[in-house]
Amino acid sequence: MCSPTSCSTTCVEKLLSDIDPAVNRILDKALADVEITPEEGLTLFQTHGRELQALILTADAIRRAKVGEQVTFVVVRNINFTNICYTGCRFCAFAKHRDDPQAEFLSLEEIAARAEEAWKRGATEVCIQGGLHPDIDASHYRDILVAIKSRVPGIHIHAFSPFEIKYGSQRSRLSVEGFLRMLREHGLGSIPGTAAEILDVEIRRKLTRNKLSAEEWVNIIKTAHRLEIRSTCTIMYGHIDAPEHWVAHLALLRDIQKETGGFTELVPLGFVHWDAPIYLAGEARPGPTGTEDLRMHAVARIMLNNWINNIQVSWVKLGPKVAQFILTAGANDFGGTLMNESISRAAGSPYGQEVTPLEMCRMIRELGRIPARRSTLYKILEVYDDHDPRDLPPLVSQRVKEAHSDLRQGPLPLRGTDFV
Ligand code: SF4
Repeated sequence: MCSPTSCSTTCVEKLLSDIDPAVNRILDKALADVEITPEEGLTLFQTHGRELQALILTADAIRRAKVGEQVTFVVVRNINFTNICYTGCRFCAFAKHRDDPQAEFLSLEEIAARAEEAWKRGATEVCIQGGLHPDIDASHYRDILVAIKSRVPGIHIHAFSPFEIKYGSQRSRLSVEGFLRMLREHGLGSIPGTAAEILDVEIRRKLTRNKLSAEEWVNIIKTAHRLEIRSTCTIMYGHIDAPEHWVAHLALLRDIQKETGGFTELVPLGFVHWDAPIYLAGEARPGPTGTEDLRMHAVARIMLNNWINNIQVSWVKLGPKVAQFILTAGANDFGGTLMNESISRAAGSPYGQEVTPLEMCRMIRELGRIPARRSTLYKILEVYDDHDPRDLPPLVSQRVKEAHSDLRQGPLPLRGTDFV
């Protein structure tokens, strides 16, 4: 007869001893470092109850074996330089028409000033993305890099999604390779692997009218990697998609990584539905559930094992508390401190302004893990095993301070200056 004091170890072992044999076999295979197939990934995406618990434990064990107990983060400022865009992606609540009172197009001077302000606060990276402005100058993407680098030469510029790379190359009449080479020469450090959404023709037709096809996304990413411009990769899930699309997407990312080795990390991005047109039209579901978030990070850790070993959890999409919890399901990176973010907030997310390094350290330590500040390309810059990071000086901008205090009281009503 088991009692909590007489045989607690045996009892704990028993808890997971009679899970579904098919799930058990796949998890054993993963723990033995054998690659799992998309079909096996699909089985894992269908787990519930104790099978789900076993999946989480397996993903966490693989995370521990591959990247250890450190949870990394990067001090970064997001600068969304324009929200003017007529592309019409149906999941996007960020884009505005040019005569919309909330439309914004930051000057080069303002972008450089924000980068300098971030650098002074300890940022090592600026992440620059914007809408596809119809009147943008052919040289504008290059001019942004020059403006930042001439003011803050040491900062890493992580900029321009594959959609922006396609748009910029078309406007400047350069090939994708020629455009990327030109950007690299002017200070581009790496590119975000956003605009991937789900790399499936039918899903993209419904989400983005296929204006950037899956094939084009893959081609741009592979070209960047060939030029030694590294990138992140992403998956946006929880809208009109299904687990079949998720495993195909993860398998495609794994194949690209086998060929190029250029991805630094995977960032799963749960769909933020509140103000997204496709949700308001009743055609998409209201984002992923909590268990789908858990499964996505855990299955990604297992499917990408040995190929993409950094799995980020997006506190901007999930909120810092849920993100902290998902660090127990295979994730090892807390993302960026951000300082300001507007894309998720435009879609109705209450999160997305800033989590300071001090707050990140508190949440990571609370999990029993070790906080570490990293560079964009995952070089460890400082480990906070026995000390705290210095607290960041406040942003100079009074508007942002107001946003911070508003955020503590709930979602911030959108105003033009929020698009930073
Ligand atoms: S996702 Fe990007 S390209 Fe699509 S509408 Fe929004 S801002 Fe424009």
